[in-house]
Amino acid sequence: MKRSLIVVDMIHDFADPSGALYCGPSMPAVIDVCKREIARARRAGEPVVYLTDDHLPDDAEFKMFPPHAIHGTKGAQVIPALAPAAGDVVIPKRRYSGFFGTDLDITLRERAIDTLRVVGDCTNICVLYTAADARNLGYAVEIVRDGVTSFDLEAHSDALRELEKTLGATLV
Ligand code: ZN
Repeated sequence: MKRSLIVVDMIHDFADPSGALYCGPSMPAVIDVCKREIARARRAGEPVVYLTDDHLPDDAEFKMFPPHAIHGTKGAQVIPALAPAAGDVVIPKRRYSGFFGTDLDITLRERAIDTLRVVGDCTNICVLYTAADARNLGYAVEIVRDGVTSFDLEAHSDALRELEKTLGATLV
């Protein structure tokens, strides 16, 4: 087993109270878990890959959600508490799935990664669709239960069940 830690959308607009689409009161505890997981992965030599929502100013996604994570703005940057370090990988994305239109898959394959451990937000959106693509591509997926959250906690719980029962991810 060769594992990578995938940190999903821990960016200013979702993870900071002043962000455009702050996840809410569940976020501080998730930041602590992310911090712990990132430190563990770096110690263990597991590649740390940050996925960051990164939209055009007039992105089609803004028909569904208020504008957020606009390319080149603070809103699209990883929060300072979880800042990427030398050797970490940052992959911007325009869609929910970190695999769609990005080089995430080849980045992982070049490192012979077969297992993804996932933290971040939102459980029912970018975590879920990234994990679904990972499973379709043959990766094993571990979701850190206390390390993911959403602005919608009911959808968060539904997504955890879907991740485990339908997608075959392991909740850890
Ligand atoms: Zn977005």
